[in-house]
Amino acid sequence: MEKLAIFGGKPVRETQIHYGRQYIDEADCAAVKECMLGPLITTGPRVQALEERLCELTGAKYAVALANGTAALHAAAHAAKFAPGDEVIVTPMTFAASANCILYQGATPVFADIDPETYNIDPAQVEAKITPKTKGIVVVDFTGQACDLDPLLTLRDKHGLTLIEDAAHALGTKYNGKAVGSISDLTTFSFHPVKTITGGEGGAILTNDEALYDSMMMFRTHGITRDPARMGRPWEGPWFYDQVELGYNYRLTDIQSALLLSQLDKFPMFAARRREMVARYDAAFADFPELIVQKEIPQSDTVRHLYVVRLRPELLNGTRREIFDAMYAENVCCNVHYIPTYWLSYYQQLGYPQGLCPNAEAFYENALSIPLYYGLTDDDVESVLVAFRKVLDHYRK
Ligand SMILES: *Cc1c(COP(=O)(O)O)cnc(C)c1O
Repeated sequence: MEKLAIFGGKPVRETQIHYGRQYIDEADCAAVKECMLGPLITTGPRVQALEERLCELTGAKYAVALANGTAALHAAAHAAKFAPGDEVIVTPMTFAASANCILYQGATPVFADIDPETYNIDPAQVEAKITPKTKGIVVVDFTGQACDLDPLLTLRDKHGLTLIEDAAHALGTKYNGKAVGSISDLTTFSFHPVKTITGGEGGAILTNDEALYDSMMMFRTHGITRDPARMGRPWEGPWFYDQVELGYNYRLTDIQSALLLSQLDKFPMFAARRREMVARYDAAFADFPELIVQKEIPQSDTVRHLYVVRLRPELLNGTRREIFDAMYAENVCCNVHYIPTYWLSYYQQLGYPQGLCPNAEAFYENALSIPLYYGLTDDDVESVLVAFRKVLDHYRK
């Protein structure tokens, strides 16, 4: 057997690759430069053009661009009027921001467990957590695969809830032929550099509801309006504005929007390449009994942001940590998505018990996210598979 790099052998690759990174080309740089030398560098025509493009891509009626995906979740939770005393059901298999937005509003996150095979929130678990205090549901399209939205929409309608879909992973994904962004009451995206397209930072909310849209447009800029019809006091002249509620400065700049518009030009290419890489991994992992791949539901036509595998400890002598470290030494740097949110200290101090969502906890213990991004060559993808084979051969029982 070949000696693992972690024990002094030769690594499978000479250079490190990570689980995700941005792809920026000369056209992106030119678009940013053109904006920077122009008259408007913060909210200007490019922000609006970006919002229009996101509506075209998703079929949603309204888009609000914001500073980042977390600001988008905050604005969505505010538009949904989550308030102290309300309960909002959320998946624990996500980045902290999905639940933090509920706390920002003073409401209470209630964690519902995931499906053990798709890792998305389980609608039956959501239903079991609904009480008279429940005001909404925050779901995440984990890795880019759409949640099973139909049963969630049914629960929304039956109990009069607001459904927020955190689609930070799922730009371009379709559910039953409809683009993510046009289905839930509010759908949020993130344009952080590891996501499918990036603005350095950036975020957006999509909705079909005009009242929610108006609320979020004001929330993005201090709760201030320049529309005399919305003011609480008489208009005094062209300089006049009024603050009618409490908002924030969550604006996206035109510079970031220039980058995002240029990235969107490449999005079809990004999405196609991600599908190709996912198909290669899927085919190869069919011959890796030590790994379980994510179950795909036929309703979701998925543009994958992450590729996660689950180790089967019953077939392995090494722990997830040992395998993670061994892969790292081979220069294939994995990651883990996600630590169940309520395990984080801040949530522990709020009193959430261990064992609350057993499927999420079991998934976390054995999960690994492997490299998946546009800039990977076919050789890079093969090297991930060679490294896995080498490491798993060593640790197989
Ligand atoms: C990235 C991400 C966020 C946060 O987005 P930011 O743009 O980094 O604020 C929220 N939820 C999920 C699921 C994410 O992956």
